[in-house]
Amino acid sequence: MSGGTRRTQRGRRGDGVRTASPGRPRPTGTSRPDRARPGGPTPVTSRRVIDLHTHSTVSDGSDDPGRVVELAVEAGCSALALTDHDSLAGIGPARRRAAELGITFVPGCEVSCRPVGPGGMHVLVYFVEQDGGPLDEELGRLRQDRRRRNLALADRLAALGIPVTYDRVTAIAGGEEGIGRPHFAVALVEAGAAESIDDAFDRYLANDRPAYVGKARLTGPDVAALARDSGGVAVLAHPYSMGLEGTELARVVGDLAESGFGGIEAIYGRYSPRQRTELGHLARRFDLVATGGSDHHGTSKPDLRVGTGQGDLKVPDKVLGLLEARRPSG
Ligand code: AMP
Ligand code: FE
Ligand code: FE
Ligand code: ZN
Repeated sequence: MSGGTRRTQRGRRGDGVRTASPGRPRPTGTSRPDRARPGGPTPVTSRRVIDLHTHSTVSDGSDDPGRVVELAVEAGCSALALTDHDSLAGIGPARRRAAELGITFVPGCEVSCRPVGPGGMHVLVYFVEQDGGPLDEELGRLRQDRRRRNLALADRLAALGIPVTYDRVTAIAGGEEGIGRPHFAVALVEAGAAESIDDAFDRYLANDRPAYVGKARLTGPDVAALARDSGGVAVLAHPYSMGLEGTELARVVGDLAESGFGGIEAIYGRYSPRQRTELGHLARRFDLVATGGSDHHGTSKPDLRVGTGQGDLKVPDKVLGLLEARRPSG
């Protein structure tokens, strides 16, 4: 990819646009990540890596929040963020387990946004709490619409003559909260309508496939504003999912930086060294923190493991401090 001939006017931002953004004072009740305290359990290894992108049973992961924390400790992480889709409900249990095990916990979530290219745009938000604040409230509305979408998706499958019921999908998900397309994919495989999770998406669930039903989506700048008003920081997740490259990708990343994003996920479980390097360049160009994480889901994405991704993931622990520095100043 030889982007760079038509650089945007924005370039590197050294003028304090972001830090001067009119962030409200941080609401009381939101907190710094719960750092492992001296006097707490002594870490067994010297932990120099972190994982800022993981899912639990609260959304479409297969490990409960406490187990995700245990996996991070087993992988040698010094800090872990839990980033379930549309929900902050795993924060309490994960934080408790992290305190017991002496690992730094970062509360977060992941929001699927309105696409700006052929693919999807996901945004991670960090340092937010289940406290009824602006983001928490909006997530409640998104979950309501997710439920409507799930019921419609089940109707769609029924109309296609596929024996997958909403009740069965609910059972697979362990409850109605957090049902997502990956749970439908498991049900489709179980019913013999697809050969694998990927095949279920390719045949039925992906955008523009016959069972696809859309759901309410915020824009990236909406999420950046909600994050800021809740004392948090927005980060563009797995940027290549947007289906953009080169100058197009740079334009979108530049716009997001302008709208208040604090980082982009450059060190992602499924990205090649070359892709990670290119995203690192974009981060520097637009004054964003280059963050990273595995996107661990457990059984639905068995190739991605907490802390190590596909085996080559190494997110330096200093990234967390850089990200914290992007929180709105109070
Ligand atoms: P939902 O939020 O219910 O629409 O589902 C989003 C989840 O589906 C995310 O975890 C994605 O990683 C997963 N997903 C989306 N598209 C695909 C695909 N083509 N193949 C496998 N998983 C996908
Ligand atoms: Fe997911
Ligand atoms: Fe995602
Ligand atoms: Zn994710």
